[in-house]
Amino acid sequence: MRICIDPGHSGPMEPGACAGGVTEAAIVLAIAKMTAKILTDRGHKVLLTREDDIEDDSLLWRAEAAWKFRAEIFVSLHCNAATDPAAHGTEVFYYPTSENGHALARCIQAELVKNCQTADRGVKTNDEWTVLVETACPAVLAEMAFLSNDREREMLTDRFLQRQFAVGIANGIEQYGKGGTLFAGMAAGA
Ligand SMILES: [Zn+2]
Repeated sequence: MRICIDPGHSGPMEPGACAGGVTEAAIVLAIAKMTAKILTDRGHKVLLTREDDIEDDSLLWRAEAAWKFRAEIFVSLHCNAATDPAAHGTEVFYYPTSENGHALARCIQAELVKNCQTADRGVKTNDEWTVLVETACPAVLAEMAFLSNDREREMLTDRFLQRQFAVGIANGIEQYGKGGTLFAGMAAGA
């Protein structure tokens, strides 16, 4: 498959969530690179929307890059944050009317929770985020875990556990590619 992996945020210019001296932009970039390597090794064509820090906080170009690449799947990687430091777990967002986006979200959610042993906050819809609205192919935004939670921040900054997140994303994409979950879910009325 042709897969676009989008590490959210930019770097120092627009770091996303910040906690405990680490930034969301740096963590998602590390996990995105691991995800891209795993998928490439498995024979997929992968585009990373950024491979380093960038000086650009706009969003539309990310969807355009995926379109130019003729991506069949778009996955934006993020870390969650909340004022309540106890908030934790994994959730994956999709555009509300996209059945394929819903199926892709369910596959990635299930594999992240399985591989990382995070709490399952479920799949959710969002009809405002540019990377879900403007993408032409099935697209999801994964909030892998909470940077504002001490335990999950440790997970997100640990090299071994970063790889577990990457494996979860890659496995979820491949599960979606097989189509099995989509039909199983529809048969169950999900
Ligand atoms: Zn983010």
